[in-house]
Amino acid sequence: MRLNGDVENSGEGRGLVLVVEDEHAIADLERLYLARAGFGVHVERDGTMALARIRQLRPVAVVLDVGLPGLDGVEICRRLREEDDWTPVLFVTARDDEVDRVLGLELGADDYLTKPFSPRELVARVRSVLRRAAGPQAPRVLSVGRVRLDLGRRSAEADGEPVQLTAMEFDLLAHLMSQPGRVFSREQLLSAVWGQADYAGGRTVDVHVAQLRAKLGDASPLRTSRGVGYSATADGPAST
Ligand code: CA
Repeated sequence: MRLNGDVENSGEGRGLVLVVEDEHAIADLERLYLARAGFGVHVERDGTMALARIRQLRPVAVVLDVGLPGLDGVEICRRLREEDDWTPVLFVTARDDEVDRVLGLELGADDYLTKPFSPRELVARVRSVLRRAAGPQAPRVLSVGRVRLDLGRRSAEADGEPVQLTAMEFDLLAHLMSQPGRVFSREQLLSAVWGQADYAGGRTVDVHVAQLRAKLGDASPLRTSRGVGYSATADGPAST
């Protein structure tokens, strides 16, 4: 299910950004510009609900207003960090005393913007917190077991033979192969690869994994961890 019909895929953005903002006009503007930049966007207006959604949807980044009904933004971030959740957070502050609170919170103020801000600035800052969270430049070629992906050419090989993948199949496989052995939940994969929130029980992910397995045959590095999710491992497709 697409949450936002107005995504234009011309931008560089990738993944689901969760916007927490109780002012409708600002939330709409944030949604519009982030979607135009290529991100999937989910908006929450209440702090308590937002915390639950962050835990559920596993966004790649959170744009977090400080002054909110329910829990405020600083408290939301504090609770995430307490749970060892280091999802990048871009705070949006309305007043100097809010800036002080954000900066005083030594945990995880990845960046902040003060209202009023330009939507372009917001997009630039979201990209920047994501870049910082990603660390140094990722390698251009990924290799796990018998499968090799060239990220620049967007080409795939299994046992040295080219394999034709759709854009989504390629992106999903590249995401899994970027951290071999790490198990990603369906929610994490939907958020990171499709930029979508998962309301459909991960069927989209399951379908694409099945297609990848069909195309890669016994060279497939994809492994199912029942009840948890999927990983790419060098020692093959065994189910655990
Ligand atoms: Ca507010």
